[in-house]
Amino acid sequence: MPVGSAREILRRLHDVMAARTPAQAKLDEVTRIVAAELGSEVASIYLVKDGALELFATHGLKQEAVHVTRLGIGQGLVGTIAETRAPLNLAEASSHPRFAYRPETGEERFHSFAGVPIIRREAVIGVLAVQHVQPRAYDEFEIEALQTVAMVLAELIAASGLGAEPAAAPRPRETAALRLPGLRLVDGVARGVAVFHQPRVRIERTVADDVEAERRRLEAGFRALREQVDAMVRQAEFAGPGDHDEILETYKMFAFDEGWARRIHDAVEGGLTAEAAIETVAQAQRIRMAGSSDPYLAERLHDLDDLSNRLIRIISGKLGTAARLGLKEDMILIARNLGPAELLEYDRRYLKGVALEEGSLTAHVTIIARAMGVPMVGRIQRLRDQVAEGDPLILDAGAGALFVRPQASVVRNYEEQAALRARRQAGFEALRDLPAVSRDGIRVSLFINAGLRSDLPALALTNADGIGLFRTEFQFLVSATLPRKERQIALYRDVLDAAGDRPVIFRTVDIGGDKAVPYISAREGGEENPAMGWRALRLALERKGLLTVQARALLEAAAGRELNLMFPMIAEAWEFAEAKAVVEAARAAMAVRGRPLPSAVRYGAMLEVPALGETLDELLPMVDFLSIGTNDLVQFLLAADRGNPKLAARYDWLSRGVLRYLARVVRAAEERGVTVTVCGEMGGRPLEALALLAIGVRRLSITPAGIGPVKAMVRSAELAPIAAKMALWLDTPGADIRAALSAEVAARGIDV
Ligand code: PEP
Ligand code: MG
Repeated sequence: MPVGSAREILRRLHDVMAARTPAQAKLDEVTRIVAAELGSEVASIYLVKDGALELFATHGLKQEAVHVTRLGIGQGLVGTIAETRAPLNLAEASSHPRFAYRPETGEERFHSFAGVPIIRREAVIGVLAVQHVQPRAYDEFEIEALQTVAMVLAELIAASGLGAEPAAAPRPRETAALRLPGLRLVDGVARGVAVFHQPRVRIERTVADDVEAERRRLEAGFRALREQVDAMVRQAEFAGPGDHDEILETYKMFAFDEGWARRIHDAVEGGLTAEAAIETVAQAQRIRMAGSSDPYLAERLHDLDDLSNRLIRIISGKLGTAARLGLKEDMILIARNLGPAELLEYDRRYLKGVALEEGSLTAHVTIIARAMGVPMVGRIQRLRDQVAEGDPLILDAGAGALFVRPQASVVRNYEEQAALRARRQAGFEALRDLPAVSRDGIRVSLFINAGLRSDLPALALTNADGIGLFRTEFQFLVSATLPRKERQIALYRDVLDAAGDRPVIFRTVDIGGDKAVPYISAREGGEENPAMGWRALRLALERKGLLTVQARALLEAAAGRELNLMFPMIAEAWEFAEAKAVVEAARAAMAVRGRPLPSAVRYGAMLEVPALGETLDELLPMVDFLSIGTNDLVQFLLAADRGNPKLAARYDWLSRGVLRYLARVVRAAEERGVTVTVCGEMGGRPLEALALLAIGVRRLSITPAGIGPVKAMVRSAELAPIAAKMALWLDTPGADIRAALSAEVAARGIDV
């Protein structure tokens, strides 16, 4: 259908809407216009009333049928359109299995049929249909014109109070319970209602009052969209290769696609508002691609949908995310993807879980969600198509699944598990003020790992001995630009204030590699192995300015107090010496200027690179303390990526090789009188923590949620006999330490 007549339809509809005639007369007039402009013998409007579709107006069918003919949702062709929310376009209507003949309408004469749903606020409120005597399929542009009219009708119906109501039977995708599989990113179980991170904008106005103004809005919108996409691509260039790249490339292709832009422009020229024009083109695209079973095309459609929504949001100025709505209900956040800073905007009291269409184990948002203790599942295909805003959800990250509108049995199971967890939690809380002392009198120090301001209350809640690892890079990861010294000082000061008399160990930034930040450019050509790449201290020693600023910030924040500082990813002792020298130089410079300084500075090294463990004779005399980062260390010892679920079984903290290595390090440090802390996730799991205690570790820095369970384990265990057994197992080739330790735990009634 030529643009000219689409414009003509809209012009005439505009007049209808503006006329001071009763609503019924307006509907009658719309059917006349549609029939005439599409060259159809029949045009009819059905609206939902009392749970069924009632013929409200027709041009071409018998007038006696008006307000008499009624079709249930799902009944006949019209009912099918309402049920599926999808248009139908049939050259021979009676060949469709759902065709229902209504003698009162006199429609047996007509062969061809095309219809589209009338949708308002995401609900079907009616159907617009055309019919023709000669068998013919309506072309794409005619269907698009029908959809445009349907959109205008939705507005007209709402404005005239015609009493059309949402179809009583909601769309099928909203009723059936679904189990959507995905990838576990952060373990845990959560329940809440679906909240879309970027809510869809409801289009309130479809017919333009001023075409020129709409054209300008659209052009400005396109400019902003293209800038945004360019910025996203630029940022992603630092994030290394991955799926993300491909998506952004597609985004870019669509955003700059002249064909897409032209069709939207044409629709605006035809008299639609910019938002309605974008939506019409998106709908037409959806229909064109819906028939295809090609998963690649389905994905592309998704991208285009995403981009259309983004453009609508830009143009309507509704850019805020759901975080700004101040929701006060337990919720599961639904998004294609999220940035770490975006996640932090949500109120932690209500944010129970996150479900994403993308996401990866090493993405910053995953690191932050893990730190926040928010369960997260990623890689859920077509997530946003299958979940509606407000749907009840259960997220079971352990099982890698999102239950949408779960059945009663799933809810019951969840509630039972939650009750069990609550009972256990109450038990841990009762231990809060008791020390972590084993039955044979061995005191274990339990610290928490932290990295965000919002982690600080955990110190008081758990009554931990201090913060054994403060990951300073979190502030860098959630910032769009390099955090200035003042902001760093403010954070470090808050941390020290919250800790009071308890010690805090700050780790200098561990960025680069898989924790890339956009404002520090990655090495040329990206990295094949980011975990073993240009990161942490390697980067900091080359960018001494960065380390110096951080050192000054830490020294200033800790003025008058003790500062404990450690460096990540040291492979050789000289790196520690060089990093310490940078901090000492900053300290000396501040002293010269008379700046207040910490009462003492203690320096530690993180043991994460296996080779460092072989040169402890060189390192230990230099350091004040040692902290073993088992997350990285174990992945390097076993050459098993810590984030790859396929290698989960190989990444075994209790493997004999790992424990023998750790035992040797602990012994060497003990002989030298250097305190050792284990600050990896391993120490937060009761069974693994028991193994560490059995090889002589006495200080654990763990995720706050681990404090209760580990303390319960310590208090229920007698360590000496377990240590003796462990020494034996370590010397026994082929020993299955996990099995042996588990058997011991069961036999001795240790709380694990
Ligand atoms: C570790 O590697 O064990 C560690 C504590 O550091 P991160 O998890 O931050 O790499
Ligand atoms: Mg590490």
